[in-house]
Amino acid sequence: MSYDTDNIFARILRGEIPCHRVYEDADTLAFMDIMPKAPGHTLVIPRASAEDIFSAPPEALAATIRTTQRIAAAIRKAFDPPGLMIAQLNGLGAGQTVFHLHFHVIPRYSGVDFDMHGGPKVDSAMLSAHAARIRAAL
Ligand code: 5GP
Repeated sequence: MSYDTDNIFARILRGEIPCHRVYEDADTLAFMDIMPKAPGHTLVIPRASAEDIFSAPPEALAATIRTTQRIAAAIRKAFDPPGLMIAQLNGLGAGQTVFHLHFHVIPRYSGVDFDMHGGPKVDSAMLSAHAARIRAAL
């Protein structure tokens, strides 16, 4: 599959679609997932146009994982979950739904069921508040 320049994350990067930004630098952007699997669920993406781990330039991947580590630490500080999951899906068979490379950073709680693709969109005000909490912990 070739990279679709109109995928939703490419449009977010271009500012055509709003998102709740947590952090950004020259190479990466972190923002709240619109259908969080837990409060604080954040996505980290490279600015480079790569659909998955296979097509990402190594430098872009390195920058993305650096930002992912930073965001994970901030989420841990802000939400204090007993666990934290990093997930990155490649291809339809893995359940990837947006074809711009992204890392999920998701707080996890013992005994709380988890479905990577379940859950409703949440209120924008709540996402805004969660983004502010993570930003304050960076
Ligand atoms: P994937 O299934 O490809 O690993 O993850 C895609 C993620 O993008 C999902 O968790 C989904 O909730 C999130 N998502 C889909 N559309 C949007 C959107 O328009 N804005 C934001 N912030 N997240 C989105």
